[in-house]
Order: sequence, then C-alpha cells, then structure tokens
Amino acid sequence: MVDDDDLRKIECMFNRVMNLIICRCCDLAIPVEYIQAHFRGKHGINCLEELVNSIILNYQPRIVAAVEEFKNTILELDLLVNGIPIKRGFRCLICRHCTRLKDSMTRHFRTIHEGENIKEQTEGNIEIQLLFGGRFRKWFPIKEPGAESMKEQNDDAWTIVQSILAVEKRRTMKNSVHYRPEECNAFRKNIDR
Ligand SMILES: [Zn+2]
Ligand SMILES: [Zn+2]
Repeated sequence: MVDDDDLRKIECMFNRVMNLIICRCCDLAIPVEYIQAHFRGKHGINCLEELVNSIILNYQPRIVAAVEEFKNTILELDLLVNGIPIKRGFRCLICRHCTRLKDSMTRHFRTIHEGENIKEQTEGNIEIQLLFGGRFRKWFPIKEPGAESMKEQNDDAWTIVQSILAVEKRRTMKNSVHYRPEECNAFRKNIDR
C-alpha cells in the first residue's frame, strides 16, 4: 500500500498488488479516468490534471477497460484486497453471485432463478469485498483455502491437519444444510403462498 504526497492530496492510496487507486472516503477503487470526476463530484476536492498525470506516470493504475474486464471475468479474489473493508454476505451456489444483504439474494432468486430453492442454493457468512462502485459494482468473495493451495504451502503438519479439518467441517455443515427435506418443504410452502 502506497501513501505519498500526490495521493494524500486527493485522499486516496494505491494498492500495488491490484494496481488500484483506492478512495479513502468511499473505501472503493476508482478507475484512473474517473479520478478527477470522482473527487470533484463526490468530495469537492479539485484534482488537477497534472496530479492525475503524475499518478498515472508513477503507478499506472487500472483503467476503465481493465476494471470492466476484471468485473466480468473474476469470480473470486485469490487474496483479500488491502484498503477495502471485508464484509460478510451470501453467495448464490448456482451462478456464484454474491450479495451483502439477504433481501438482495431473495430478489436475485426471484428474478434470475425463479422456482429454485434459495435455502439449498445459498451459502451464508462468507467474506466478501466491494471493490468498485457505480456500474462496476460487484461483491467479490475471497477464495477459501482449499486442497490445491494447501499442497503449495510449506506449513508444518499440524497446520495442514487443521486446515483439512476446517475444510471437512465446512463440507459437513454445507451437506447438513443441503439434506434437510422437512425444512426445504416448509420453505417451499412459504414461497408458494
Ligand atoms: Zn470517494
Ligand atoms: Zn445466482
């Protein structure tokens, strides 16, 4: 995370790993083309073109096209993004869409997956981050440590055992949510009404 004079003038910081300029007032990343409009419009901070040019020269932050591609292709984050708050939310197990609020997930099922069982097809309490606002708004889940990443780690045996147990526990929890027919039926009845 970089925090120099140029960036401080407009209340933002730079995340080197993600190549993103992050507004500290909004906790959101701003595509480089929107910097001037964002800080003037949202925060009343006049950001001179020279300043933007200097930021581009020093950091080469992601441009709108790159942000758009990121939004359209990335399903989950390999690592959490420094400078962006972590929240808890819900994931649709059909299309992997994430939301912060249960109501939004209910709306998602009503419009996209009509007739599907929301309780069976939703995972709750997952870590999510909102990287961008406006038309790039999308909640990204953070990748859970799975079998693949475990192999790559050089952790001691006990840490590996602990991670396996954690994954196992999650799997059992998920299964117990999946196979509880009386609950599913009760839920279906509620939807039918
Ligand atoms: Zn802002
Ligand atoms: Zn979905």
